[in-house]
Amino acid sequence: MAPCESCHAGCCRAFAVPVTGADIITIARQTGLSFWDFVVRWVDPEGTISRGRVPNFFFPDVPETPFVICLMQTQSLFLPGTAKCRFLVECPPDELHPLGGARCGIYGARPSACRVFPTKMNRAGDLVVLCNVSSPPRDDAHPAYDLCPREWEVEELDPVRTLQDLVVTKYEFAFFAEIARAWNQAPKSWKAFPEFLRLVYSNRILHESDVKLEEEGSQDVATVPFTNSQMDDASARIAA
Ligand code: SF4
Ligand code: SF4
Repeated sequence: MAPCESCHAGCCRAFAVPVTGADIITIARQTGLSFWDFVVRWVDPEGTISRGRVPNFFFPDVPETPFVICLMQTQSLFLPGTAKCRFLVECPPDELHPLGGARCGIYGARPSACRVFPTKMNRAGDLVVLCNVSSPPRDDAHPAYDLCPREWEVEELDPVRTLQDLVVTKYEFAFFAEIARAWNQAPKSWKAFPEFLRLVYSNRILHESDVKLEEEGSQDVATVPFTNSQMDDASARIAA
C-alpha cells in the first residue's frame, strides 16, 4: 500500500502551498472559483516558504514585506484547532486512518508543488531525487502536521510522470519568477494582482507571423517567457 493510502494527508495541512499563475488559472478553470476564493498572499519575512525556490512578490500597502502567493487554508473539521488546505476533503477517523481520511478535492488540477511532493530534481536536471520527509516541518507538534507514515520507496514513484511533473514545475516557477521581477519593479495593489496575472498569461501564445527572428543566431523571440511590451501593456491596462 502506498504511504498516502493510510495517511491523513499531513502534507496538505503542514505546508503553505505556493502556486504559480498557471496553477491559479488551472484551478479556477476546473472549479469555477474566483481568485479570491482560493488564493492568498502569505507573508514570508524569513523566506521559510519561498526557500529561495519560489518568487516573492511585494505590494505598496506593506512595501518592505515579501509575500509568497499560496493556496488558502481553512480550519480542519475533525482535528480542531489545526489548519488544512481549503481543497482537502476530510473524512471521519476510522481503523486505517486514526486521524481521519482525506483526499484532494481538485486532484486533476492540483498545483505543481503538490504534484512533485516529496521529490525534487537533481542538480543536472535529468533525474528525480526522492526526499526524506519523515520529520514534521513546523514547530507546532500537533500530529495533524505529521508527514508520511513511512518512508517512500523509489519503486512507488512513476519514473516518467514524476520527472515530467518536475520539469513542468521548474519551468512554471521560473516563468513566475520572471513575472515577479517585473511586478516588483513597480508593484501595484494586491487587488490588481488577478487581473495582472490574467493579462500576462493571456499573452503566452504568439502566432508565428508575429515572432521576430533574432538577427544573430536563430533564437526566436517567442522563447522568452513574455516580452517587456506585454508586461508594460498589462501594467498600463491595470492602471487605467
Ligand atoms: S504526507 Fe506523505 S503519505 Fe501523507 S498524503 Fe502527503 S505525501 Fe502522501
Ligand atoms: S491542492 Fe490538493 S494536494 Fe495540494 S495541498 Fe490542497 S488538498 Fe493537498
